[in-house]
Amino acid sequence: MECQQCGDDVDEVRTVKVGKKKMKVCESCAEDLERDQEVAEQAEGAMQSMMEYKGRR
Ligand SMILES: [Zn+2]
Repeated sequence: MECQQCGDDVDEVRTVKVGKKKMKVCESCAEDLERDQEVAEQAEGAMQSMMEYKGRR
């Protein structure tokens, strides 16, 4: 199967949720994407709490 991220041909792909869509990627790309997702979620959370903070003032 082909990794949808790097295009490598791999025996096994992992399905990773990226935003609202799912991607079938190889193990190393899956790890990268999961890390990116986590960072994006944390950044979003930080942004939201910042806006909440301002909103209360
Ligand atoms: Zn890959």
